[in-house]
Amino acid sequence: MSTATQPEKHSFQAEVQQLLDIVIHSLYTDKEIFVRELTSNASDALEKLRHLQITEKNIHDDRLPLEINITTDENGGTFTIQDFGIGMTREELVENLGTIAHSGSKAFLKAIKESGQNNDNLIGQFGVGFYSAFMVAKQVKVYTRSWHPDGTGYCWTSEGKGEYSIEEAEGQRRGTKIVIELMEEAKEFAKDARIKDILRKYSSFVPFPVNLNGEKVNTIQALWLRSKNEISEDEYKEFYKFACHAFDEPRYRLHFSADAPIALNSLLFVPGDNMERMGMERQEPGVALYCRKILIDQHPKGLLPEWLRFLKGVVDSEDLPLNISRETMQDSALIQKIGRLLTKRMLKYLEEESRKNVEAYEEFFTRFGFFLKEGAATDFTHKDQIVPLLRFESSLTEPGKRTTLAEYIERAKEEQKEIYYLVGPNRKAIENGPYLEAFKARNLEVLFLYESVDEFVMNNLHEYKEKKLVSADRDDLDLGDVSTDPDARSLEEAEVKSLAQWFRDKLGDRVAEVSGSNRLVDSPALVLNTDKMMSASMRRMMKAMGQEGDLTPKVNLQLNPRHPLILNLAGLRNANEGLAVKVAEQIFDNAMIAAGLLDDPRPMVDRIYQILEEASKKD
Ligand code: ADP
Ligand code: MG
Repeated sequence: MSTATQPEKHSFQAEVQQLLDIVIHSLYTDKEIFVRELTSNASDALEKLRHLQITEKNIHDDRLPLEINITTDENGGTFTIQDFGIGMTREELVENLGTIAHSGSKAFLKAIKESGQNNDNLIGQFGVGFYSAFMVAKQVKVYTRSWHPDGTGYCWTSEGKGEYSIEEAEGQRRGTKIVIELMEEAKEFAKDARIKDILRKYSSFVPFPVNLNGEKVNTIQALWLRSKNEISEDEYKEFYKFACHAFDEPRYRLHFSADAPIALNSLLFVPGDNMERMGMERQEPGVALYCRKILIDQHPKGLLPEWLRFLKGVVDSEDLPLNISRETMQDSALIQKIGRLLTKRMLKYLEEESRKNVEAYEEFFTRFGFFLKEGAATDFTHKDQIVPLLRFESSLTEPGKRTTLAEYIERAKEEQKEIYYLVGPNRKAIENGPYLEAFKARNLEVLFLYESVDEFVMNNLHEYKEKKLVSADRDDLDLGDVSTDPDARSLEEAEVKSLAQWFRDKLGDRVAEVSGSNRLVDSPALVLNTDKMMSASMRRMMKAMGQEGDLTPKVNLQLNPRHPLILNLAGLRNANEGLAVKVAEQIFDNAMIAAGLLDDPRPMVDRIYQILEEASKKD
């Protein structure tokens, strides 16, 4: 039986021809991307059909498997790709393959117009969709039959030179079959091995079976829907690399499903490395959202809290409406529910892991602790679950080892109302600083914070288990007397008061308040920051970042009434006031140096010479 219709000739839209000329004459070397483009179109068509199957009763050839079949014929020099997807009607053929109505090619043309030249590069970047077939084709034939029950089959033919033809073609099955007659110089694409490599490279996670000459090549499946005990370590790793476009190995993996309150299947990974820490830009959300294997959004914003942006993987929920758009997604109560469920589950998992394998968790925390800290400071909903996951070094840990806040509290005496911390660039700096000695002498543990985010966390948390989080360089801490040597000489209270007043007069507006303090042990004096808004460490950081201007804060000076130097000074004040003033100024500057607050040490040098001169005088 022969068809009655004649091939109907059409001209390509001018823009299409322009695009085709670029594609055909380009020297683009990675012509192989045409395989990726056609495979992705086939997958799209199958995906669309799967959508339809949910709502449409009457679909042509409804029993056909949702798969992609690719065949190569080395002798004939052809490449063929067939899908059982939605297919195209005559109108759709004209619209889709004769004009530029679709996104990819439009963007390509626009980029070409903007860049002027270098088209080769742009082809790879954008992919030029269906038209990329003409990079390798002498002739392209598209056989297609729409899913509509009352449709007809067609054959679209073109050599990419100005025109194409459409004729009816009988005996077509639903979907699309594209036959490429390869150019001489592109005959490599009729080789099975060559195509297999290309498919592995680009199309391994196509959500439908891709068969090459009868053999399935994409063996990676929607793992999240399978049962855990059927899945091997290697399969998980392979899935991670393909689905998450990763090059490293996952550090943690959480595969779980839930039925209530929402039905969902999820496979989440913590990557091996933190890309942001390695200097990459801020990451996009990495947990893709699916509904029954159909991708809704690769990078859904508003699903997980910002600080979980380091997570990668997939979440699939059949409760999601299929037609949810990216715009409405962000406000969807359901999405928020899913997000909360995932977050809670992930936090619970991390908590378990932190106990199960301390070392692995330490390593994780070194790389990803930053995100948890961000969460602890900003995510009020999950704060209580996040804080136990935080780790800090302290005056009682070995260098490089960390403690939890709970362990800190366990070690502390019951009556201790506060958790103390000190901020500094590293352990040495804090240990050599002026503030630790008072705490050491009293056996009080101090957390060591090295990152600016740490201070931010402490300020936002305020307290943990009813213990206030307090910076150890605050001026209003009452640490109580320390029972050192009971016979040690000390100034009387009245003497301390008078000496403090004298200091205050001599130092002028360099200092806010001067007082005696039993906080001190080995040092004669200590300055304390009165500026609650800017700690000494923050100030150091701002200076390091090149902040201009006078950042010197108002400080309080505390004197150690037991220190020999202070005891002597009380007497010297009357005997030789000139020298006493110089000594007092020097004590103050030394305390400022210890606190990292002295900006210009030069005036000091002259004063030291004067003091030395007095000290070396013969009586
Ligand atoms: P894009 O995929 O970005 O839309 P393409 O140039 O790859 O652009 O494809 C153009 C259009 O042709 C597609 O949007 C689709 O409507 C149609 N099309 C291409 N291949 C197929 C196919 N195998 N089955 C059904 N429609 C297809
Ligand atoms: Mg496409």
